Amino acid sequence: TQPIHIIGAGMAGSEAAWQAVSLGVPVILHEMRPHVGTDAHRTGGFAELVCSNSFRSDDAEQNAVGLLHWEMRRSGSLIMAMADRHQVPAGGALAVDRDAFSAEVTETLKRHPLVTVAEGEVAGLPPEDWQSVIIATGPLTSPALAQAIRTLTGEESLAFFDAIAPIVHRETIDMDVAWFQSRYDKVGPGGTGKDYINCPMNREQYEAFVRALMDGEKTDFKEWEKSTPYFDGCLPIEVMAERGPETLRHGPMKPRGLTNAHKPDEKPYAVVQLRQDNKLGTLYNMVGFQTKLKYAEQVKVFRTIPGLEKADFARLGGLHRNTFLNSPRVLDEALRLKARPALRFAGQVTGVEGYVESAAMGLMAGRMAAAEALGLAFTPPPPTTAHGALINHITGGHIETTDGQKSSFQPMNVNFGLFPPVEKVKMRDGKRIKHADQAVERKRAYTARAMADFDGWLGAAGLKAAE
Ligand code: FAD
Repeated sequence: TQPIHIIGAGMAGSEAAWQAVSLGVPVILHEMRPHVGTDAHRTGGFAELVCSNSFRSDDAEQNAVGLLHWEMRRSGSLIMAMADRHQVPAGGALAVDRDAFSAEVTETLKRHPLVTVAEGEVAGLPPEDWQSVIIATGPLTSPALAQAIRTLTGEESLAFFDAIAPIVHRETIDMDVAWFQSRYDKVGPGGTGKDYINCPMNREQYEAFVRALMDGEKTDFKEWEKSTPYFDGCLPIEVMAERGPETLRHGPMKPRGLTNAHKPDEKPYAVVQLRQDNKLGTLYNMVGFQTKLKYAEQVKVFRTIPGLEKADFARLGGLHRNTFLNSPRVLDEALRLKARPALRFAGQVTGVEGYVESAAMGLMAGRMAAAEALGLAFTPPPPTTAHGALINHITGGHIETTDGQKSSFQPMNVNFGLFPPVEKVKMRDGKRIKHADQAVERKRAYTARAMADFDGWLGAAGLKAAE
């Protein structure tokens, strides 16, 4: 069997290698550290955790990342096995002793008879005679390789910075205050003229909001992030606010072409627009609201926006150095580059976010590449599972904008907004259930469905002989 070349022995690359060799397919694992470093890694070890030592919630019944842990353990994940072995106390979270964790991932892979480690940077596109490649070089992909990928995929298809606007669960937006309308009722391809959710502000609300943005506590840029200038069109909202009290009202918050459906005679002074973020229509992003405000501050300030008082955020805004593909456009559903299918991608570079999500996409890519090497068919897990929901987010679930604006595809943590919705259960035995209990029931419904479907997939379609 031809070996799979895996570039990058981080969270995704290590897991991909493990999955492939566990299926009997040899791997050549290329890692540039310690010879060439990144701005965040400090060691030469595989699967180094560059910041926090937490894999977040381990609650598989009520939390989407806990569910992802569960599915990975079910799939024989090396990253999860090592995390469990090197766990340190952290309440309901799974946190690890990072050095012991990384050391044992490294040892396990180096010791495996089917793993060959090739030290050094892959400083450009892999040679054509590498027939199966997984690129898992992460958010800090070395500049030479990143540039080569950008040249191959096109300018618009590889970003070096994420500029993340907060994303809100649609059902938590108060539609008695907000309304659906595209600016000037414009109908783009596939649009309806009602593609945006609009939240109105009067003058007083706008001025208080602008002050709160400027006064709010911000996250500092890391020293090395400062050297990367802001890109056009992704200035943090608070930086725009600092340019003058009217800047936002003439920029992302302009009220022109919008009529408040609830109060047609009252002209809004400013409007916050939210745009559909996934095909399911369960998530909406706040247009132009990328920000360096601290998370707690974002929740406080953004909940002052009329209509968003009870908003539940699927993710908050941020701005980081981050190399990632416009995956919905350039990858197929087997995570291969459409333009050159021998190249498969995994990890954060595909547009997921987080240690666990990155490792999970490594798990999938490793199995996909191994299946290919063995001449077996591979069906991805259904979108009702955590793995399937992530694959769907990066390859299919994200919508292109309908009004010709740039794609708003941005990296995401796993969350229930990426899953096909389950019904809300409001009544039981003829009695109304409390709101908090409804939410718990709903999460349990997501995870119970996911577990059943994931086990069904593992048993039936995980790896099946090709026709
Ligand atoms: P990585 O784990 O970074 O692995 C990529 C590997 O590829 C590295 O080992 C690198 O040395 C190697 N490599 C790169 N280019 C080449 C090349 N050309 N040739 C050979 N090897 C190469 N997520 C969290 O869940 N919690 C956090 O606290 C957190 N903090 C973060 C802090 C920072 C500063 C950054 C940048 C990211 C953070 N993330 C965090 C996000 C992300 O989930 C992690 O970066 C995660 O490690 C990504 O996994 P990965 O496998 O995609 O990439």
